Amino acid sequence: DSFESMELNLELLRGIYTFGFERPSYIQQHAILPILKGHDVIAQAQSGTGKTATFAISILHQLDYSNPHCQALVLVPTRELAHQIQRVILTLGEYLNVQCRACIGGVCMQDDIASLTQGVQVVVGTPGRVYDLIRRRVLKTNAIQKFVLDEADEMLSRGFRDMIRDIFQLLPATVQAILVSATMPDEVLEATTEFMRNPVKILL
Ligand code: AMP
Repeated sequence: DSFESMELNLELLRGIYTFGFERPSYIQQHAILPILKGHDVIAQAQSGTGKTATFAISILHQLDYSNPHCQALVLVPTRELAHQIQRVILTLGEYLNVQCRACIGGVCMQDDIASLTQGVQVVVGTPGRVYDLIRRRVLKTNAIQKFVLDEADEMLSRGFRDMIRDIFQLLPATVQAILVSATMPDEVLEATTEFMRNPVKILL
């Protein structure tokens, strides 16, 4: 298996090789193509497996770069993780001119507003701030096609369940859901039945 055989956007492929990846990891081999085909995907995967690049590559391949609006929303449990994922997306997307922002609590909302008004195609954020931005109609949801829940077990154990559900209900009905979680406790399984349709499941 190789990244070439995935027939990715060539500028994205260049970003992948510049990053230093030679071949796809197990999760990348098993999850990227199902995501690109439009399936909902559940991946039971921890940090260190290449999970971030799995959804980053899928998002970057399918963005409409002529559309400045948010097309992918990634929810994460912590501010640090939001920044980490934003960096991966910007680095893999170095040759694509992608607009990606980390929207997190504890920082001035004016900066989010200014940035989103200029056009952000991928938002990586913590649930509270993302929900606020959607409610204030600063973050428009109508063009969002991919909804990623990263470290879903962590998010749910931090009490974000109701907020994630509220956000999901404000997304287009056709949104594609991708859930990554190191463990699969009942509350994560519940979320998968609530947010996903016939998901492809990948166990590592
Ligand atoms: P993650 O599972 O997202 O926490 O990623 C773990 C580490 O693996 C990160 O440092 C990535 O840069 C690296 N990584 C992800 N995919 C690959 C790949 N296909 N080849 C080599 N390293 C990778």
